[in-house]
Amino acid sequence: MVLRARNCIKKLSATKPGDPAEEAKIKLGTDDVMNLSSNENPLGPSRQAVKAMQEAITSVHLYPDGNSTDLKNALSRHLGVDKENLLFGNGSDELIKLIAETFIEPGDNVNVCDPSLLEYHFAAYLMSGELVKIPLDEMACNLEKILHSITDDTKLIYISNPYNLTGTIYTQKDLERFIKRVPSDVVVVCDEAYIDYCNDEECGSGITLIDKYPNLVVLRTFSKLYALAGLRLGFAIANKEMISMLQRVREPFNVNRIAQAGAIASLKDRKHIEKTKKCTWRGLKFYYRNLPEIDLGYVKSQANFILIDLKSRNDEIITENLFRKGILVKSGTSIGLKGYIRVTIGLMHQNYAVISALKEVIQNQVSIRRSI
Ligand SMILES: *Cc1c(COP(=O)(O)O)cnc(C)c1O
Repeated sequence: MVLRARNCIKKLSATKPGDPAEEAKIKLGTDDVMNLSSNENPLGPSRQAVKAMQEAITSVHLYPDGNSTDLKNALSRHLGVDKENLLFGNGSDELIKLIAETFIEPGDNVNVCDPSLLEYHFAAYLMSGELVKIPLDEMACNLEKILHSITDDTKLIYISNPYNLTGTIYTQKDLERFIKRVPSDVVVVCDEAYIDYCNDEECGSGITLIDKYPNLVVLRTFSKLYALAGLRLGFAIANKEMISMLQRVREPFNVNRIAQAGAIASLKDRKHIEKTKKCTWRGLKFYYRNLPEIDLGYVKSQANFILIDLKSRNDEIITENLFRKGILVKSGTSIGLKGYIRVTIGLMHQNYAVISALKEVIQNQVSIRRSI
């Protein structure tokens, strides 16, 4: 072997996801495909954002503002936090990695719920950290259990609210009780990618706690509610000390010009934001009403996706059958939740299509052998 990569690299996957919708179009030989597997915003980007991005295109011969000054000002006003509390990333994915790069020495423990987002695993393995997995409790992150999993080796904890993969939440009270008892040298990352969709006042956010807890980092993204997944833009909100630590590791030009322009305009477009929320909530209600009628269950969701309980039917076969009908969903098996599928809330006609396809697939598959 001539290529002597670091040992931990062997644990990482050499294949990365392509564009599921484009791949499906080629495989199925049709353009009639709906991707409900990536939790994208089905309404598309704000029109004002599109205009701002078109204007920014003429300046792409210039490097972007490495401090994202205008965006930082806009977001600081929007969230009511100081500019020094903000840091941007090329998607929150980059920030998940950046935090591990900043804090993890070989052998340090990274505690996560199980199952959880693979990006957390990737970040831990990349830095030769050890993953400690804490099983979900009734499909939710149990903060009490996570607290009990902390040892002297624990350096970093990733939690998310609402929880991707299930859409469940923890409350503000629970979060405060938790963070108070986490040792101050253990970093806690609250990934709040879906918190803008949350319709429950009790939902816990780390934002109001950053001044008191310098070991806390809140992550948010422009990929979901703000409909800019293709631009790659996420941000961290944390105490100034924490931000200045992460700044040392950040690439100077990690956020491109077009993303900065699009994000500022998206923040301003309140109408589009409200429309997105309403579309999501309406879709969720539709699923709550219709799933039981076709003998399926669900986990109540505070995000823009729903975890459907197939009641012991085989999720991989059902995912494959939906795929053949041009409907892409996430099979539970692929995310560690056998017997479920995760479906992004779409436009109403898409939600209808999912229910009627599911109904058909289930009826035609009486012969599907029970997976459990
Ligand atoms: C979508 C998602 C992200 C990734 O966001 P990007 O900003 O697109 O990288 C991060 N965390 C969770 C929980 C997500 O579901």
